[in-house]
Amino acid sequence: MPAARLPILMYHKVGPVLAGSHVAGHYVSEPAFRRQMNWLRALKFTSVDLAPYEAAFLPKRPIAITFDDGYRNNLSYAAPAMKAVGMFGIVYLVSERLGATNDWDDGLEPLMTVSEVQEWIRAGNRIGCHSATHAHLPEVPEKQLLAEVIGAKDQLQELFGPNVKTFCYPYGQSNSTVKRAVQTAGFEAACGTGKGSNRADSDQFDLRRINVRADTWGPLFLLKLLRAYRNAA
Ligand SMILES: [Zn+2]
Repeated sequence: MPAARLPILMYHKVGPVLAGSHVAGHYVSEPAFRRQMNWLRALKFTSVDLAPYEAAFLPKRPIAITFDDGYRNNLSYAAPAMKAVGMFGIVYLVSERLGATNDWDDGLEPLMTVSEVQEWIRAGNRIGCHSATHAHLPEVPEKQLLAEVIGAKDQLQELFGPNVKTFCYPYGQSNSTVKRAVQTAGFEAACGTGKGSNRADSDQFDLRRINVRADTWGPLFLLKLLRAYRNAA
């Protein structure tokens, strides 16, 4: 029987907080991340990709582990910790910012280069698309919207092969026009930032996620996971 619920974890940065960061809350320390992965293993979760969407429900207890923006520290700290417990993650890349630093939030944190993304994939992890420039998609003109969605998909597929099948809205922002562009581009699912977990018949173009932050200390992580199970879209 397919699983009734699909929780999706949302991480940004894993590892030491950059000096002077204004978004320290976006960081999960390496020991905390390892502890969380160990709990997932102890609770018998299986990590899944989000495409095809129906397939995510095949394991008895599925979970998707997502990382927004494509920070290098995901490769340095999160990838080995996931591998150690037999899990993998999905990183959402900003196609025109590979190898740069983020020009949103702090603008200081290094983003994975092309070869680092290849290393991420070789380690068993997946990638998805987080637009071309981390734009506020509901506010951009149509021509830019197409570049941010279809253009970014093409760019990532040229670099990394045809497996860019899921999208993640920058800032969690979407509307019907943005969603339609994402579907037309051939994406099979898209992550938002609504809280909770998902069912097989949820809106797969605005998937709910569990935000894991610096202050998501031990028991709170488990509580958030439990709460998400109760609160399914
Ligand atoms: Zn982002």
